[in-house]
Amino acid sequence: MDGQTLTESLSDQELAERVLKAEERLSCLETTLAAVADEIDGLSMSSRCSKCEESLLLIKDGTLYCPYCGDGHSL
Ligand SMILES: [Zn+2]
Repeated sequence: MDGQTLTESLSDQELAERVLKAEERLSCLETTLAAVADEIDGLSMSSRCSKCEESLLLIKDGTLYCPYCGDGHSL
Protein backbone atom coordinates (compact mmCIF):
# COMPACT_ATOMS: atom_id res chain seq x y z
CA MET A 1 0.00 0.00 0.00
CA ASP A 2 1.22 3.50 -0.79
CA GLY A 3 1.65 5.32 2.54
CA GLN A 4 1.67 8.75 0.94
CA THR A 5 -1.66 8.21 -0.83
CA LEU A 6 -3.21 6.78 2.34
CA THR A 7 -2.13 9.81 4.35
CA GLU A 8 -3.57 12.23 1.82
CA SER A 9 -6.93 10.47 1.68
CA LEU A 10 -7.50 10.61 5.44
CA SER A 11 -8.74 13.58 7.42
CA ASP A 12 -6.79 14.88 10.39
CA GLN A 13 -9.35 13.38 12.74
CA GLU A 14 -9.13 9.96 11.07
CA LEU A 15 -5.34 10.11 11.29
CA ALA A 16 -5.49 11.10 14.96
CA GLU A 17 -7.80 8.17 15.69
CA ARG A 18 -5.48 5.80 13.86
CA VAL A 19 -2.45 7.05 15.80
CA LEU A 20 -4.36 6.68 19.06
CA LYS A 21 -5.36 3.10 18.20
CA ALA A 22 -1.80 2.27 17.16
CA GLU A 23 -0.49 3.64 20.46
CA GLU A 24 -3.02 1.58 22.41
CA ARG A 25 -1.97 -1.57 20.54
CA LEU A 26 1.71 -0.77 21.07
CA SER A 27 1.20 -0.28 24.80
CA CYS A 28 -0.72 -3.57 24.95
CA LEU A 29 2.07 -5.38 23.08
CA GLU A 30 4.78 -3.88 25.30
CA THR A 31 2.96 -5.03 28.42
CA THR A 32 2.54 -8.52 26.97
CA LEU A 33 6.13 -8.72 25.82
CA ALA A 34 7.46 -7.68 29.23
CA ALA A 35 5.29 -10.36 30.86
CA VAL A 36 6.51 -13.00 28.40
CA ALA A 37 10.13 -12.02 29.07
CA ASP A 38 9.48 -12.32 32.82
CA GLU A 39 8.25 -15.88 32.27
CA ILE A 40 11.56 -16.91 30.71
CA ASP A 41 14.38 -17.42 33.21
CA GLY A 42 17.35 -15.15 32.68
CA LEU A 43 15.82 -13.21 29.82
CA SER A 44 15.34 -9.48 29.94
CA MET A 45 14.97 -6.64 27.49
CA SER A 46 17.24 -3.70 27.04
CA SER A 47 17.12 -0.58 24.89
CA ARG A 48 16.47 -0.43 21.18
CA CYS A 49 19.22 -1.76 18.94
CA SER A 50 21.37 1.20 17.94
CA LYS A 51 22.59 -0.60 14.82
CA CYS A 52 19.36 -1.57 13.05
CA GLU A 53 16.67 0.02 15.28
CA GLU A 54 14.34 -2.83 14.30
CA SER A 55 14.18 -4.47 17.70
CA LEU A 56 14.88 -4.13 21.38
CA LEU A 57 18.09 -5.77 22.52
CA LEU A 58 17.69 -8.95 24.57
CA ILE A 59 19.85 -9.96 27.48
CA LYS A 60 20.20 -13.70 28.00
CA ASP A 61 22.84 -15.68 29.87
CA GLY A 62 25.01 -12.58 30.23
CA THR A 63 24.95 -11.75 26.55
CA LEU A 64 23.36 -8.72 24.98
CA TYR A 65 22.07 -9.36 21.48
CA CYS A 66 19.71 -8.11 18.81
CA PRO A 67 17.27 -10.76 17.51
CA TYR A 68 16.92 -8.87 14.24
CA CYS A 69 20.44 -8.11 13.00
CA GLY A 70 22.38 -10.36 15.38
CA ASP A 71 24.52 -7.53 16.71
CA GLY A 72 25.60 -7.96 20.30
CA HIS A 73 28.30 -8.66 22.84
CA SER A 74 28.93 -10.20 26.24
CA LEU A 75 28.12 -8.05 29.23
ZN1 LIG B 1 19.84 -4.84 15.52
